[in-house]
Amino acid sequence: MGEIRTLKNFVNGKWVGSETKTFEDVLNPATEEVVARVPISTKKELDEAVEIASEAFQLWSNTAVPKRARILFKFQQLLMENKEDLARLITIENGKAYSEALGEVQRGIENVEFAAGAPSLTMGDSLSSIATDVEATNYRYPIGVVGGISPFNFPMMVPCWMFPMAIACGNTFILKPSERTPLLTEKLAELFKEAGLPDGVFQIVNGAHDVVNGILEHPEIQAVSFVGSEPVGKYVYQKGSENLKRVQALTGAKNHTIVLNDADLDETIRNVIAAAYGSAGERCMAASVVAVEEGIYDAFMEQLASEAKQLKMGNGLDEEVFLGPVIRKEHQQKTFDYIQKGVDEGATLVLDGREGIPSEGYFVGPTIFTDVTPEMTIWKEELFAPVLCVVKVKNLAAGVELANKSVFANGACLFTNSANAIRYFRENIDAGMLGVNLGVPAPMAFFPFSGWKSSFYGTLHANGKDGVEFYTHKKVVTARYATKDFK
Ligand code: NAD
Repeated sequence: MGEIRTLKNFVNGKWVGSETKTFEDVLNPATEEVVARVPISTKKELDEAVEIASEAFQLWSNTAVPKRARILFKFQQLLMENKEDLARLITIENGKAYSEALGEVQRGIENVEFAAGAPSLTMGDSLSSIATDVEATNYRYPIGVVGGISPFNFPMMVPCWMFPMAIACGNTFILKPSERTPLLTEKLAELFKEAGLPDGVFQIVNGAHDVVNGILEHPEIQAVSFVGSEPVGKYVYQKGSENLKRVQALTGAKNHTIVLNDADLDETIRNVIAAAYGSAGERCMAASVVAVEEGIYDAFMEQLASEAKQLKMGNGLDEEVFLGPVIRKEHQQKTFDYIQKGVDEGATLVLDGREGIPSEGYFVGPTIFTDVTPEMTIWKEELFAPVLCVVKVKNLAAGVELANKSVFANGACLFTNSANAIRYFRENIDAGMLGVNLGVPAPMAFFPFSGWKSSFYGTLHANGKDGVEFYTHKKVVTARYATKDFK
């Protein structure tokens, strides 16, 4: 094995070694191999990046919007050309199956495509006559330096919810990627620079708590986009708001799926399996609880257990593999503890993911519990692992009532052929992202994305027009003209 590479920070368009004494190993969770070392940078290094970002803002915010957009078009083209390499990197550092990584890269690219529409997206509005000879125009402006803090589970897609739009709007951006999956962002920075982005507009400061606190405290940082777990998101929202920043914090989840008697069984099982076990359940949109109507329950359970058992586990780079590892050994152990807790609290373990796993890598097999109640830990908490809880319900109303008991409200899905049921579900369920006859209501660049309740802190969601709103502020000019006769 060759020497292990130490990652650098991307500051002012250059790769700069960190002065920190603390480093963490970046592991391939399928092989337990150390693939790099990431610096846990200091607050001082963050402060230096902010100073550069503030300076770069003067130039970038005054760069014509179509010129900014042209750099994003070029960036999009380079991302397309490097799609396979990017996906491979994601599988290596995160563990998800290559096909899923490729899907993630595609979602990220769509964010860049959407942001390249900045000339239309950032247009203001005007009214030629708000009073006699008086008109008003609303202009949009960038807000300044923006900080982004991202999680380990989508190393490409989640940062792409943030920086392409922030930068297209004329802001400068500092990203603190997850210290567990920092490799992909390195590639994003290189390609963005190659696309012609001026130095200092996009920077990466690797690290953990100190860099996050630096972002939340620095007076020059105007807005913070956070995606990660609920306790950290709440902290980021509270501390960032206290320091008078705009904050959007997309947090944890416990997504409910409801299956009605009239659902297409084969299609439902295929979708539920992909939603519960895809990316090893490490998705904020993963199916965690399935409420199944009485009439279809037995058939559903039989087919679910039989198909889940057959899922191929292993290294995601093997194209036949569906289920990769979870991110770290600690997370594997925590999941095993949750499984034991489920058993101890009285749920029925139908399929035990602690059994039949490879000896190398942090694997958890597909797990199924039935007889789960809302009092149980496995029902209440986000497990972020391939563990599915199944509950038998009397009808749709009971399924919705159960789902609404959760403190989380990120996504919810319904499988049915009934238009009336779909409408009832839409009007009564608490969740920001709904799926009908599909398992993962995935975030799309063009629509706002986020949950409700404890799954989100803030006002403006990520993506879509909410993204433009979040990364800009407005100025309304009211102007009076003299009535003149030019004849
Ligand atoms: P995490 O909260 O552990 O980490 C997220 C980021 O916060 C990382 O960059 C990390 O370095 C930083 N961080 C962690 N602890 C911190 C602390 N005490 N102080 C300051 N910074 C800290 O989350 P994760 O494990 O990387 O990601 C998984 C979580 O992210 C899950 O809860 C998942 O639901 C959530 N997630 C949510 C969405 C969404 O759209 N709602 C999308 C993806 C992931």
